[in-house]
Amino acid sequence: MVSTPTSTFRDDAFLKTRIEAIYSIALAMIGMDLLGSAMMAGLFWQQGNNIWLPIWVLASVIIIASRGVAAMAYKSGLFPNIPIRHWAASLVIFAGASGLLWGGALGLIVATGTDNQVMFAVCVALSGLTLSIAHVAYWPMYAAFELPVMIAAALGFFISDRPGHWPLAGAATVMTVVLLSVSRRLAGQVLHAHRLAAANQALVESLGARGKALEQACDALERVSRTDPLTGLANRRQRDSRLADEWERGLRSGGPLAVVAIDVDHFKRFNDTHGHSEGDRCLKAVAEMLQAGLRGPIDLAARHGGEEFMLILPGVDRAGAASIAERVRVMVATCSSDAGFALPEKVTISLGVAAIHPAPGRSVHELTIAADAALYRAKMAGRNRYELAAVDSVAAAA
Ligand code: GH3
Ligand code: MG
Ligand code: MG
Repeated sequence: MVSTPTSTFRDDAFLKTRIEAIYSIALAMIGMDLLGSAMMAGLFWQQGNNIWLPIWVLASVIIIASRGVAAMAYKSGLFPNIPIRHWAASLVIFAGASGLLWGGALGLIVATGTDNQVMFAVCVALSGLTLSIAHVAYWPMYAAFELPVMIAAALGFFISDRPGHWPLAGAATVMTVVLLSVSRRLAGQVLHAHRLAAANQALVESLGARGKALEQACDALERVSRTDPLTGLANRRQRDSRLADEWERGLRSGGPLAVVAIDVDHFKRFNDTHGHSEGDRCLKAVAEMLQAGLRGPIDLAARHGGEEFMLILPGVDRAGAASIAERVRVMVATCSSDAGFALPEKVTISLGVAAIHPAPGRSVHELTIAADAALYRAKMAGRNRYELAAVDSVAAAA
């Protein structure tokens, strides 16, 4: 529901928007003013030797030209330092001056003209008033034009001696008040519409910002849900989904897929000797070495258990996977002496390497089971080494 603000007259809210709305139609309105003024001047002229005619025409031309210059100056944006209140005041002054001129002409014609002239002048004035309702976005401007025109018409009827001039003067007075009150109400509704539009815009912006924050929170949550908090590597969940994806990709491309199952050697002993937090530091160091040993984002290093890791190597065959496994084994074995890690004792890992060409009827579990079996053999064989999955344990191994 539209409420009618009571402070429209002095309300500065959205003044710039409202003034801009008026300036956006300024040239059309000036054109209509020119036309109306020419008609009024014609009526003056019809009345005979009216000494006011040249003064009236000159004043009209000056006011209309000034309005045009002001409108162009505002639209050019060359005067950003002039406060919007001053532009608003100039609009009211021009409208008031124009209203006085139109009112003067109308009052004179109504008081002294023929019936035809009066009828014509009233029509022109009413057209002017109707068109200038477009100025209701800034009500003082509308009122500044409407008041002198209507008061002059009422006065003109009042002092004329034509039959029925009293009721006509009364009607003009009533119409003045009605027009003022209706236009003010309309101005309130326009202002209210501006307020709603601004509130709407603010709402859209805040919704946009909230949506973005929500999106970021979702991204963060999604990242957390697939990341191991201690090492920052992929967790078991991400490992499983990546394995499934790479299996599908391998089915389509016919290329190999390799995995390396990794377990830290004698880690229980390490923990017992140096404490759990040193153990954590050790796991982080191992994770960094694994990550550093990969070829890039196509490979994935995951921590899927306490001190158990896995490398997923798409497009890599057994030999390639074996050389990556050996590389990371050496990196881990030497990292404890690296000043950046300074682990209290040498840490080693055992690795099980398996590769397969994904094929219908086979499953990715065969690959991981084969890698685990190879890892077990590496442990049995004395640790700090890698073992390759037996060829027949992964039938289609590369
Ligand atoms: P093996 O060489 O046969 O693998 O022997 P291990 O001692 O490494 O194997 P075991 O499975 O007996 O011990 C694994 C240890 O890893 C036990 C557990 O306390 C430790 N562990 C598991 N998760 C974490 C962790 O997040 N932080 C730390 N500090 N220790 C962990
Ligand atoms: Mg283990
Ligand atoms: Mg272990």
